[in-house]
Amino acid sequence: MASYDVIIIGAGPGGYVCAIRCAQLGLKTAVVEGRETLGGTCLNVGCIPSKALLHATHALHEAEHDFARMGLKGKSPSVDWPQMQAYKDDVVGQNTKGIEFLFKKNKIDWLKGWGAIPAPGRVKVGDEVHEAKNIVIATGSESTSIPGVEIDEKRVVSSTGALSLAKPPRKMVVIGAGVIGLEMGSVYARLGAEVTVVEYLDTIAPGMDGDVQKTLQRILKKQGLQFILGAAVQGVTSTRTRARVTCQLKKDGSQTVLDADVVLVATGRRPFTDGLGLDALGVTMTERGQIATDAHWATSIPGIYAIGDAIAGPMLAHKAEDEGMAVAEVLAGRQGHVNYAVIPGVIYTTPEVASVGETETALKEAGRACKVGKFPYMGNARAKAVFQAEGFVKIIADARTDRILGAHIIGPAAGELIHEVCVAMEFGASAEDLALTCHAHPTWSEAVREAALACGDGAIHA
Ligand code: NAD
Repeated sequence: MASYDVIIIGAGPGGYVCAIRCAQLGLKTAVVEGRETLGGTCLNVGCIPSKALLHATHALHEAEHDFARMGLKGKSPSVDWPQMQAYKDDVVGQNTKGIEFLFKKNKIDWLKGWGAIPAPGRVKVGDEVHEAKNIVIATGSESTSIPGVEIDEKRVVSSTGALSLAKPPRKMVVIGAGVIGLEMGSVYARLGAEVTVVEYLDTIAPGMDGDVQKTLQRILKKQGLQFILGAAVQGVTSTRTRARVTCQLKKDGSQTVLDADVVLVATGRRPFTDGLGLDALGVTMTERGQIATDAHWATSIPGIYAIGDAIAGPMLAHKAEDEGMAVAEVLAGRQGHVNYAVIPGVIYTTPEVASVGETETALKEAGRACKVGKFPYMGNARAKAVFQAEGFVKIIADARTDRILGAHIIGPAAGELIHEVCVAMEFGASAEDLALTCHAHPTWSEAVREAALACGDGAIHA
């Protein structure tokens, strides 16, 4: 029986980052992972492969739509789908191997197989039982479906199947206008598919700022995505070659039937804790099937901790990473902290969407007075040069103190720009602090400064 200071179950962004920090802090560390490669859903079948497909298809879109007007002439590229898949797989391979290298560098043992916790302080992998002073559960989440819809990963796919289709579909129905639906819907629309997104709510991109939702929908519509909002999918029937999606419009109860060769089910994910033995241990769960934890990520059983998608909070890789580092600090006898008020969210469509902190709506509902500085990319020279001048930056600040409470960006590189605001928020900055910071010209970042200026005496270029 091998003995460790900490055994982490799951090698996704939460688990592997936690392991590296534990090892750096001098703890003897092992990670249990049953997949063939490290990195979890994010690296293998999530964030990373989807970014490769988004990058490749965006390049295609630019070649088809923007090259000629920039004076770049010639035949548009055609799609070699097996090669695009090989490129995606290569990107995944480079990243998963990178984690393996980091494990070796930090002397972290990879216990290959699926882990269970037969008793506190014990982790079983296959026939072997290992001893651990502390256990961290970082088992992530899995796709969910809805009643009447069975995922076969061929005709009716989850995000995993959507990354490796045999060929791009001609007609695709996406159920759910959340992050996965919009990102993968964009990929296949750019590859020429007729994409219809069916969403239960009346808006796309749930949880995002209202102006961002409307602008994104308008832009994606121009890119060819069709939306049926306020419609509940009731069922999908499929044959070997086709699928039929039945949905009901909430406003009048009428039914619509959509025909497709691929249906993507993107209606959310749920914590994945199967096979761990949590029931037998008596680990307290929340009503939503998450592992209940305290402010230090401790579960109801001493010596067992949990992080990432398996616990409450946004199901985001970077949230899991931050919790992984923080719990490692706790296990090493230090203070671990995650500022949940400053966790950015990004949708990697074109243009990108990024958000951090409070929305105007939530603040109004809470009766908190705020001011809103909004700057359209139409006033940003750099955005116009790359045909992405349709979005905006919105900064929300406290009406009395000017402290930045949130930011919502739709525009070029929004997923990068948001971090300027995150750092400002971590330092408790005011909108004026951002407005007084010199920004290089011409950059997209200037739009962030202009939005901050708009919280005060006014933006210059609007
Ligand atoms: P989501 O929760 O973001 O969106 C699901 C959508 O499906 C919702 O808008 C919901 O109203 C809709 N829906 C549910 N039932 C429906 C029905 N019967 N008919 C029509 N619509 C229905 O979920 P997701 O897009 O599947 O993503 C899962 C998780 O993974 C999320 O937590 C997301 O944040 C995360 N994720 C993040 C990224 C990123 O950060 N870029 C990328 C992929 C996934």
